[in-house]
Amino acid sequence: MKKQVIANFKMNMTPSEIKNYIISLAPNFKSEKVDITLALPFVALSLGKFLLSGTNIFVGAQNLSEEESGTFTGETSGAMLKDIGVQSVIVGHSERRSKFKETGRAINKKIKIALKNRLQVILCVGETLTDKNSMKTLSVLSGQIDEALKGLYENELENILIAYEPVWAIGTGKVATSKEIEEGVKAIRKSIEHSFSKKAGDEIGVLYGGSINAKNISQIISCKGVNGVLVGGACLDCANFMHIISACEASK
Ligand code: PEP
Repeated sequence: MKKQVIANFKMNMTPSEIKNYIISLAPNFKSEKVDITLALPFVALSLGKFLLSGTNIFVGAQNLSEEESGTFTGETSGAMLKDIGVQSVIVGHSERRSKFKETGRAINKKIKIALKNRLQVILCVGETLTDKNSMKTLSVLSGQIDEALKGLYENELENILIAYEPVWAIGTGKVATSKEIEEGVKAIRKSIEHSFSKKAGDEIGVLYGGSINAKNISQIISCKGVNGVLVGGACLDCANFMHIISACEASK
């Protein structure tokens, strides 16, 4: 699998600012070695698709509705995302779990709708500091994965990436050590193996996310079992993000 570099813009930058960002980024990106996805705010998705046509940079959404359509004011459906050419969607980000009270059941419904609409899913899982301090990291990861992937067929995993994002590392400047990352990634693969098969556990794409920056990227991308990264704050500066991409291109 090519290394995956996913930028989560969160609720940052206006469409005009994103336009300038893409104009700076796109001509500089020529590598065949990494796949880049910009997970943009909803209001910038169509613009992003338009500006990135003819490049090999993908456009992703940061969320979708757990419902297919209907009386859900303010929601965005999987079909709507597909219709404007969005290729992937982040599901289960810890900010949505904690700030929007998104449950495992809702995450499972969202994943099924995304897959039905042929959107690649970037499923985020990760333990809180309390979980970590009470040695519950591995059980939390497997619990979140079991809930999220309940009822899925093994062949559907082809369209799912799992991002290991320890909650205590997101936006905090605290980065997990290589050992912690490798243990988390291994637990994710074991959990997939347990629910599906050894082959599925070996082959699923696993990313790391949490306070990645231009300085720590080389250490993180070289961790065993890591197929890519999910970058939040550090993607907002285009030059910084380019540096992160270059480090991923350079990794073996
Ligand atoms: C994220 O929110 O997915 C993330 C990884 O954020 P940050 O890089 O800012 O920690």
